Amino acid sequence: MVTQSFDTPAEIQRYDAFIRDVVELIAGKYDGALKAEHGTGRNMAPFVETEWGPGIYEVMKTLKAAIDPENLLNPGVLINADKEAHIRNLKELPRVEEEVDKCMECGFCEYKCPSRNLTLTPRRRIVVRRALVKLKHQNRKQDYQQLLKEYQYDGLDTCAVDGLCAVACPVDINTGMLVKRLRRENHSGFSNKVALQVAKNFNFVSKAVWVGLKAGAAVNAVFGEHAMTGLTRACAK
Ligand code: SF4
Repeated sequence: MVTQSFDTPAEIQRYDAFIRDVVELIAGKYDGALKAEHGTGRNMAPFVETEWGPGIYEVMKTLKAAIDPENLLNPGVLINADKEAHIRNLKELPRVEEEVDKCMECGFCEYKCPSRNLTLTPRRRIVVRRALVKLKHQNRKQDYQQLLKEYQYDGLDTCAVDGLCAVACPVDINTGMLVKRLRRENHSGFSNKVALQVAKNFNFVSKAVWVGLKAGAAVNAVFGEHAMTGLTRACAK
């Protein structure tokens, strides 16, 4: 899987050189087919003539013009006079986090995600991280803060971190790993210390919680079923 970045002119040039080398190797040296499983999209359109030769390409153009004289059907796909169509209108995929940088936003993971009908799917969680980086680069502080704030619930709090997305992902991305790390980093040093102590002494903590719940039930039994609710609310004030 080639995960090419398109963030800078140098990277786009590198991609251009790579594609041209691939075309030369496959169509030129080995007389092979440039596309197989997928059709010819915009990426390979500039090289259809190289693959098939000018004669057949002319036939293709004539057929296209006869069927679609106004060029309304998928313009630029398959038949494209622009010899640089493969490096135009490229979608930026800025680097955000190591765990998800390989994501090409195919969406295969989406149907596996338990929170897909509640908030964001793994693909969207990654897309928003990328949008945040773009906003930062554009110095749009207010939009950045707003999106970051909304990401807390939609992106972080509602991820089940079960890793089901990785089962369907062609590049093995487990968005849950990213979410786990972001959650950890969002907690203060004190919270992390408390959590560590709870984890280390979980036997004691679970017994203490059991005792606390029993005590609460006893208070409710004596003073009425809303006694503990009133008491905890009063303590919280
Ligand atoms: S399946 Fe993988 S590559 Fe595709 S959108 Fe989901 S995380 Fe990204």
